Amino acid sequence: MQLTDIQRDRARGVLLGTAVGDALGAGYEFGYPTPETTIGMIGGGAFDWAPGEWTDDTSMALCVARALETGGDVDDIAANFRAWFAQNPPDVGNQTRAVLSQTTHGGADMTRAAASLSGRTGGNGSLMRTAPVALAYLDDAAGCRAAAARISALTHSDPRAGEACQLWSHAIRYAVRCGTYDGVTEFLDTADDGVRAFWQPLIRQAHEGQPSDFPNNGWVVHALQTAWWAIQGSADADRPLPAALELCVRAGGDTDTTAAIAGGLLGARWGASAVPSEWRDIVHGYPGLRADDLDRITSNITAVKELS
Ligand SMILES: [Mg+2]
Repeated sequence: MQLTDIQRDRARGVLLGTAVGDALGAGYEFGYPTPETTIGMIGGGAFDWAPGEWTDDTSMALCVARALETGGDVDDIAANFRAWFAQNPPDVGNQTRAVLSQTTHGGADMTRAAASLSGRTGGNGSLMRTAPVALAYLDDAAGCRAAAARISALTHSDPRAGEACQLWSHAIRYAVRCGTYDGVTEFLDTADDGVRAFWQPLIRQAHEGQPSDFPNNGWVVHALQTAWWAIQGSADADRPLPAALELCVRAGGDTDTTAAIAGGLLGARWGASAVPSEWRDIVHGYPGLRADDLDRITSNITAVKELS
């Protein structure tokens, strides 16, 4: 679809919002900042990040995005995941590591490896990288949901992980197109009964509750709730995008990931122009990219669809 200037700004906000949320939260991962703590893009944290450096969340989102910008499919995304993992990144989620440690050939094979894992398979590691899917399907809601589920299943077989990716990708797509968060409601209204019955009360709880109601945000469900809570809680702030990302960090736990998840939707709603310039100037990471590169990749993804 042909984007207006404001839609183009919102499309650019998707990857940039993900990246700045991730880089903001990186310094606080696994921690619980006190109310007196000033939240800044300071780096450090469990893996000693440079200030402005993004983590696995954005690196994996870019594995998805860089496949989509050339019209690629799950085989290309799987290959990009393997290439990222091969350079021994400092932080890799447990489930993602369990899948990428196996020798697989192509997307279907990787999906089978993920499905063969036993134990808990509902980590937040596929939701954190789902944002770019929306960019490739701005003109195709059903295609967006299907692709989000397919890409999630490369590493996360739990149905709730797939549903979370569908919900969030749908919301991001809607926000780029329309500039509101109504895509969350639209998704629930059109979802299968079982999906709606599971997620509707959780979305309501995130709207009305506190982080202590959804404390295990390494789990995809509580991670989505934390992100939605922060977005709702900062809706009336002067600068909602940075305010919501700060709230994600203050909620504690898997701060880089909840802020990355929130950032994808916040950027889609408020646009790249809502990202503070002091963050845009320093954000960077694998594979040697900066904010301008995220803009370029975004333009390439949406251009693929504009031509088709
Ligand atoms: Mg991370």
